[in-house]
Amino acid sequence: MLRIGLTGGIGSGKSTVARLLVERGAVLVDADSIAREVVEPGTSGLAAVVEAFGADVLTAEGALDRPALAAVVFGDAGERARLDGIVHPLVRARAAELVAAAPADAVVVQDVPLLVETGQAGSYDLVLVVATDVETRVRRLLGRGLSEADARARIASQATDEERAAVADVVLSNDGDEQQLAVQVARFWDERVPSTR
Ligand code: ADP
Repeated sequence: MLRIGLTGGIGSGKSTVARLLVERGAVLVDADSIAREVVEPGTSGLAAVVEAFGADVLTAEGALDRPALAAVVFGDAGERARLDGIVHPLVRARAAELVAAAPADAVVVQDVPLLVETGQAGSYDLVLVVATDVETRVRRLLGRGLSEADARARIASQATDEERAAVADVVLSNDGDEQQLAVQVARFWDERVPSTR
């Protein structure tokens, strides 16, 4: 098995790189989708969040009300840490289960937005970073429905591309079009993923 940790700032193009790697045969373990799964209705994760933050973070249907929860933890480092303390261990445990379930010779790609911030570089055989100019990221995030202020605030709360590059084994630059990104992913796959698989 080859375990690749894929990271990059919000809007850098991680999901796009993940999709291109899956097209080549990689198995994707996606931290964002696992983070949603572990707080679905009926989970012990959601029960723990409600115990910590109260029933006000639930919708009328009993699902997690993400905007309400975001309002509680936004700008409050203590509350944020409390939420992370509940959700992060659940995400790591579920990710480990999914990795364990992958074939022994799989190329497993884990999309981890905060890989660098949470000091997880050592957990992977190879750290792949997507680096993209901040202004380009803001522009692409606007296209995804985020406000400019929101996009800039989120970018500012994360590590910089320099900090990510410092722990990367390979950096892909996504300042060009998607075709240029696809060419880099193909080169990465041919050069860094053993061909005996
Ligand atoms: P991330 O997962 O890192 O937040 P995404 O892969 O979702 O980033 O990319 C952010 C947005 O930019 C998406 O709407 C995506 O389709 C778009 N995008 C990604 N790469 C490019 C590119 N090279 N050119 C134009 N748009 C791109």
